[in-house]
Amino acid sequence: MSQSAGRTVVYAARRIHTMDPSRPQGTHVAVRDGRVLGVGTLETLRGWGDFEIDDRFAAKVLLPGFVEGHSHVGEGTYWRYVYCGYFDRTDPDGRVWPGARSIEAVVARLREAHETLVDPKAPLFGWGLDPLFFGARRMTRHDLDAVSPERPIGVLHASGHITNASTAALALAGYLRTDHDHPGIPLDDARLPMGELRGPEAMMPVLFRLGVDRAAMSGDEAGLRAFAKLAVRTGTTTATDLATPIPDDAIESLLRVTGEDGFPLRFVPAMHVRGHTPQGAVERALGLKARSTDRLRLGRIKAHADGSIQGFTARMRWPGYHNGAPQGLWYIEPETLRALFALGLEHGIQIHTHTNGDAAIDLAIESLETALRAHPSPDHRFVLQHCQLADSAQLRRMKALGLCANFFANHHFYWGDAHHDQTVGPDRAERMNPCRSAQDIGVPYTIHSDAPVTPLGPLHVAWCAVNRRTASGRLLGAHERIPVADALRAITLGAAWTLHLDGEIGSIECGKRADFAVLEDDPFEVAPEALKDVGVWGTVHGGRIFAAGAA
Ligand SMILES: [Zn+2]
Repeated sequence: MSQSAGRTVVYAARRIHTMDPSRPQGTHVAVRDGRVLGVGTLETLRGWGDFEIDDRFAAKVLLPGFVEGHSHVGEGTYWRYVYCGYFDRTDPDGRVWPGARSIEAVVARLREAHETLVDPKAPLFGWGLDPLFFGARRMTRHDLDAVSPERPIGVLHASGHITNASTAALALAGYLRTDHDHPGIPLDDARLPMGELRGPEAMMPVLFRLGVDRAAMSGDEAGLRAFAKLAVRTGTTTATDLATPIPDDAIESLLRVTGEDGFPLRFVPAMHVRGHTPQGAVERALGLKARSTDRLRLGRIKAHADGSIQGFTARMRWPGYHNGAPQGLWYIEPETLRALFALGLEHGIQIHTHTNGDAAIDLAIESLETALRAHPSPDHRFVLQHCQLADSAQLRRMKALGLCANFFANHHFYWGDAHHDQTVGPDRAERMNPCRSAQDIGVPYTIHSDAPVTPLGPLHVAWCAVNRRTASGRLLGAHERIPVADALRAITLGAAWTLHLDGEIGSIECGKRADFAVLEDDPFEVAPEALKDVGVWGTVHGGRIFAAGAA
């Protein structure tokens, strides 16, 4: 659906919210060559010469296309495996999968899939497991053995940081031994692995044996196309894949797929530092950056400082976890992070750092402070991803250092009750993902889904930041709520800023890309509690039109 060059189309809408403070609303937007020529009323656009009027959005509301600053292409690829999550979830084709609400339900769902497999030794893989909702009992290898003792079975947790494995899967990876001494491999009474593998180092060997090759997944065409369908369904026109190895053989396929005329997404992968030296990572990122196109933006790096709060692998300051769980894990050596930051600043490569616990946030802040002394660097826009437990003092230091925050607002809904009761306790749970404080202190911020950890859906993320309601309906952190207008800014211009793309996308203004979220209702008019329910018709991407139903 490309527009021919030089032709001008004026779209009429019920309302256009531009997110441009100097011209916040309009009823018509003129598009030429995939860009916004002008926005306002039909009268104000007439001076641009001949145009064609297009009324198909006359009853719709246009916003800038949503920008997801922290997602993963797994949101598209994981659907080929068995969905084992607690909440109902919509797949790329619009089918809703009911949540599996107990260990028994998870086992039953895996058994259904097991019964469809002909080869008794073929691996079986599930995703989305969320044992926090199952009380004190942890899933063990014996639970999965009940599906089938011969078949190697693994289930990735919703956090993405832990995998459960069956006895056959552990045996396949050579893990069925009594001599483990690794914090990521907890043991049972027989001194064998109990079946939970925590952190990438412990779980990757099993994932590979189960055929879940993350390197292949990052360049997987079918997964990328499924991801793009979900993007259209949610009004998303730019999305990150924020931790991919981007193997060399994936680059050509990424360039080809994103370059197709019918591809509806600007894709922004960040290369994972894992497997590289800091020097090697920055050199490779520089090489990749040079190959960027409009719809494939390469040359960013992702690092992980720690794990997840709900998996108790986030690195915490005193007094640690509320329920007494042991300290979490470091995912990177402090010296490695410092070296990476210094090289990133020196060469203009942006580093996104996963930090969940407050000790991990401290490490990132201190590392950047040291690196900035060696390489003063205005406007580096390094981002602390998740940054969930930042306190005000940390936000003030972040402001001083030019660090951005990308908060995981969906946590309030999905794990807010668990954070209140189990992981961090009431006061830190009320502070988590402090959008209001960040705004008041002046830290540039956005909010995200971390899909597939939670479903892709910027309006849901915005709803979480505005309402801070947990799954049980509890209001968690009233003082950190933000108004609808600020949440919508966070999922458009706010996210664009954290990707250095705010000059091109994030608002509907003359000269910017014609990327729109096409909505059935006006998110500024509906009740704030209904923000997540605003219907998405589809998107316009670079002037090309994509209906969600047809995607
Ligand atoms: Zn992530």
